[in-house]
Amino acid sequence: MELACLDLEGVLIPEIWIGFAEKTGIDSLRATTRDIPDYDELMQQRLRILKEHRLGLPDIQEVIATMAPLEGALDFVEWVKERFQLIILSDTFYEFSQPLMRQLNFPTLFCHRLVADESGTIVDYKLRQKDPKRQCVIAFHGLNFRVIAAGDSYNDTTMLSEADAGILFRAPDNVVSEFPHFPSVSSYDELRLEFIKASNRGLIL
Ligand SMILES: [Mg+2]
Repeated sequence: MELACLDLEGVLIPEIWIGFAEKTGIDSLRATTRDIPDYDELMQQRLRILKEHRLGLPDIQEVIATMAPLEGALDFVEWVKERFQLIILSDTFYEFSQPLMRQLNFPTLFCHRLVADESGTIVDYKLRQKDPKRQCVIAFHGLNFRVIAAGDSYNDTTMLSEADAGILFRAPDNVVSEFPHFPSVSSYDELRLEFIKASNRGLIL
């Protein structure tokens, strides 16, 4: 039994916060964990900025709905779903990703939650657990699944290491050189090939 685990942002859809900052012109929302390494501090800052701009969850979802998955992502998702059980493991929030997940026909997604009050203002966020992507792979192994995983960034590397096969997709150079043991590809065609190579079921394109 084989599961395919895919990261979401950078693999199937653009980085949501960056896309949202571009669409709204709110530059301060472009900050990522590269600028503010403490994730909690970064999220508190993001929530504060959203509040300052009086952007509630419905406004945010409306903006995100104008964003699109990466070119070829939907075809790739359909291809994977025909050959594997697909689970998306992401550090995004259900409420944020929903307009983009709709465009991918809602594959199964394990991520985090935002908490909004009656007015739609986001007041808090709930991370499901620590190191969630890796914990998922450990749990899937406990269920006797073999796991092939692909991701693009640092927050994927523990998942890729824990998986039976890990693949880097469109990862930045520093991640590729720091993790040279993972195959690194940049197109969906190459990614399909890596999944086939990693599978032990003799799949063909
Ligand atoms: Mg990513």
